[in-house]
Amino acid sequence: MEVLYRSTRGGGGEITASQAILRGIAPDGGLYVPCQIPVRDLDPRSFVGCSYQETALRILRLFLTDFTEEELKTCVKNAYGAQFDTSVIAPVREAMGVHYLELYHGPTIAFKDMALQLLPHLMTTAARKNGSSEEIVILTATSGDTGKAALEGFAGVPGTRIVVFYPKDGVSPIQELQMVTTEGDNTCVIGIDGNFDDAQNGVKKIFTDERVRERLRQAGFVFSSANSINIGRLVPQIVYYVYGYASLLASGQIADGEKINIAVPTGNFGNILAAWYAMQIGLPVGRLICASNENKVLFDFFGSGVYDRNRPFILTSSPSMDILISSNLERLIYHISGEDPKVDSALMARLASEGRYEITDAMRQGLQSFTGGYADEQETLEEIRRVYDGAGYLMDTHTAVASAVCRKYREQTSDPAKILLASTASPYKFPRAVMTALGEETEGLDDLALTRKMHEISGTQIPAAVQKLLDGAPVRHERKCSAGEMEQAVLEFLSIR
Ligand SMILES: *Cc1c(COP(=O)(O)O)cnc(C)c1O
Repeated sequence: MEVLYRSTRGGGGEITASQAILRGIAPDGGLYVPCQIPVRDLDPRSFVGCSYQETALRILRLFLTDFTEEELKTCVKNAYGAQFDTSVIAPVREAMGVHYLELYHGPTIAFKDMALQLLPHLMTTAARKNGSSEEIVILTATSGDTGKAALEGFAGVPGTRIVVFYPKDGVSPIQELQMVTTEGDNTCVIGIDGNFDDAQNGVKKIFTDERVRERLRQAGFVFSSANSINIGRLVPQIVYYVYGYASLLASGQIADGEKINIAVPTGNFGNILAAWYAMQIGLPVGRLICASNENKVLFDFFGSGVYDRNRPFILTSSPSMDILISSNLERLIYHISGEDPKVDSALMARLASEGRYEITDAMRQGLQSFTGGYADEQETLEEIRRVYDGAGYLMDTHTAVASAVCRKYREQTSDPAKILLASTASPYKFPRAVMTALGEETEGLDDLALTRKMHEISGTQIPAAVQKLLDGAPVRHERKCSAGEMEQAVLEFLSIR
């Protein structure tokens, strides 16, 4: 069955998967969604014993139907190889009754690698298929994790260049070091004077400037986006839920057809939406537990049907979840509105103008499989300590938010379903918060020293991404600029005069 994609806001007609990947966002500002769910009766048993790569191939094939088998095979082979520190790619570990699906074994030790190792290959293949000969230029503004994962994904991929802007005083020391030591002649990393919003606005301005686009076109370049709204990032995330379920089946933790609950530490709503799609194609899922930190817009939404971003933005120890507008929620809104682009457009217009919207009771019916939960800062740090003391299992702050929410969910309900929890980052990525949670002295130690100490006390292995920094990886990107100089910096990197 051929699967086409359309905008959640109804503009622009139906296009193929490869076209949707190339465009990223629809011209009317909507997000691309599949026009139909390709299957409803996936047989998870048939995935038992499949490698991650085989599982990926079988799931991608269902959604990206205009790619050939050969094309997908090559993309998957390039994406999930030796850059992961385990051949299993996404191992499942049990600790204190929860099954942690570890999605951080890729090159930047955060779950964004799961999709961003594949996206560049899907994108260059899509360009070839659609007869586009221009070199693809990825422009990204980052507050930390996405930028490095995108850099690592696109570094060295022929036919692509990537430029990343970050607030030079607004990312953690480890995140900055990770970015500025990136290799690859096609990469460019620039710290700007200003905050994340300045970087983001600067990128948007360059993106939408017709004059800049025309100069790029003449020089043989075209802009694209590696942002999480790209359908080429969403589909690869469905894979690991199927893989995780099959792992539980294989190890005898669950019986054939048994429903599990899936818990996800959520920010932009991409990761948990992928779990929802996995459920739509037939994965036996009881509840989707959507975990937020103190920025609990989604928790309130699931409780009341009102989405309201009008509230203070709280900086927490799980920064990748510090988000008040969860972009990917728009896709779910579209589906639960009976796939009505008019309803979706109206609600999104209200979000833009008033910062809030309310859905109808009928739409709330479509949310029945979701349970919202949140954990505050203290609960999050306590959860890291509790599971480490109880089972010797060390987790990062984002994973801990979801873990704390699951603990409360279990106390409040008698739901006996097994929980598969998306573990989204290595504890080595957030050493200060994790060591503080364990009650270790952190004063006077920089983040790198703290990773050494984490290794000493926990006996866990230092990931290659961190070891490289400890070994003194050379800084390759020293450029800094003001927000006003961003356009010029991009043109210079592309040697456009
Ligand atoms: C991006 C990120 C999240 C949030 O994922 P969404 O798909 O945006 O909901 C959670 N944890 C970590 C470590 C992340 O990098």
